Amino acid sequence: MHSIKQIGERFWYMTPEFENDRPVLGMVVGRNKTLMIDAGNSESHAQYFLNELRKREIAGPDFVALTHWHWDHIFGLSALTDAVSIASKATKKEMEKLLPYSWSDEALAARVKEGTEIQFCADAIKKEYASQRDIKIILPKMIFDYRLEIDLGGVTCLVQQVGGSHASDSVVVYVKEEKILFLGDCICADIYAKNRNYKIDETLRLLDRLAAFDADTYVLSHGLPISKNEFEQEITMLRAIATLTDRLKGNIQHVMETYEKLVERELTEDELEVIHEFAMGYFFRSVAHSI
Ligand SMILES: [Zn+2]
Repeated sequence: MHSIKQIGERFWYMTPEFENDRPVLGMVVGRNKTLMIDAGNSESHAQYFLNELRKREIAGPDFVALTHWHWDHIFGLSALTDAVSIASKATKKEMEKLLPYSWSDEALAARVKEGTEIQFCADAIKKEYASQRDIKIILPKMIFDYRLEIDLGGVTCLVQQVGGSHASDSVVVYVKEEKILFLGDCICADIYAKNRNYKIDETLRLLDRLAAFDADTYVLSHGLPISKNEFEQEITMLRAIATLTDRLKGNIQHVMETYEKLVERELTEDELEVIHEFAMGYFFRSVAHSI
């Protein structure tokens, strides 16, 4: 079950659901305008959030900013046509590719087979929509390049493209006065590739960009918000493994041993997974370069 939480004076969010891959939805409430972050994976996902906020006397959104093109963040947009939808040029471009798609079981299965869709998303779409696949892709109305600043009245949001391995169009939303950085999925691996992976250069560039924001709370789309301290631990781990993978030429065993010595303890499941994903990124980069 979703629950609604508040951070600071002006930011509300709804917790994610893992079963059908519903990400966190956010709402920044200014004196004059409201900005919703991500549209959700269906109209009912978006509507559930807005209904819960209405009970708390928070009005529907004037703006909706999309963090990236993945289905679970954009399919709810058709329920939000009163709001001005905002996305990066790169996100709009990716969304345009989805326009001709059918979302029937057969079409999903065919795309999984050809490698343009993954089983995890196909299963989650079936769970979210059951047999009612009335999915309408609505393109964003306001497009920006790189960065956009929105003054909602007493609170400012900075929407900025940061890229990364998960989706090169990824943007973050920085709620300045509340020191909240809404990360979306930007620090996750590329899950659409045949082998989940992190690319070294993209990740290091992303981490540098994220480090420029002065935040106290970091919101991850498929988890709970984390503190500055937890975020720093996460990016230190990603940076160290990225650097070691580069130096040790993607050798998983060597990266594991060296990283274990560095942290002076047994590695966690999460760290082992990240080491594997960086090695995959290194391997596929090498293959691409040698062609
Ligand atoms: Zn995503």
